[in-house]
This record gives sequence, structure tokens and C-alpha cells, in this order.
Amino acid sequence: MADPSVPVHQCPCSTCQTAPDSPTAAYHRQINLLLSRLTEPQRRWYVASLAADPSGPSATQLAVITGLSLPTIRRGVSELATGLPDTPPTRQRAPGGGRPRAEKKIRP
Ligand SMILES: [Zn+2]
Repeated sequence: MADPSVPVHQCPCSTCQTAPDSPTAAYHRQINLLLSRLTEPQRRWYVASLAADPSGPSATQLAVITGLSLPTIRRGVSELATGLPDTPPTRQRAPGGGRPRAEKKIRP
């Protein structure tokens, strides 16, 4: 269940207003739901990766869908293009997290 204390941006685009049951509107809701759970830099990188998809919404459309500003999305695009130089990878998994080690199946 969604946590009602976390605000999810409502897309104001014409498709979401006139056809909220359409696949496009569902897609926009999914984008905003995911964004509501991400940190600030992760939000702009996710939207930047969506903007990079030629079959997906443009950066201008994504600014409307997500409520992120166009300069913020463009910043994410350039950060992704240059390999996120200011943000080295950090391990965020708890120790011992992840998939359990596969048992070796040795039969006599
Ligand atoms: Zn929309």
C-alpha cells in the first residue's frame, strides 16, 4: 500500500486530465510514484534517463509530468552523460543483504 504521508506529484498534462484511465496517464502516475520514493539526485537522474529514450516523453514533457524544472532535468542529463563524476558509487545495501549464496549441489 502507498504511504499517504509521502506526497506524490499529480501530473497536470492534458492526457491525465481528460483520460485518467489511459495507459499514458497510468505511465505518468507510475513515474511520479517512483519519484516520490527517490532522493533528490536520483529523481533527476531517473527523469534524465527517461528523457534519453527517443520513444519516451521529451525533457519538456517530463518537466510537466514530474514537476521537475527543465534546468534540473537538463542537469541530470549532463550528469548522466559525464558519468556522474561528483557522486562516486556508494554501497547502500545493509551488510548481509541481498540474495542468499547459492548452495553448492555436490552429490556423492
Ligand atoms: Zn500526465
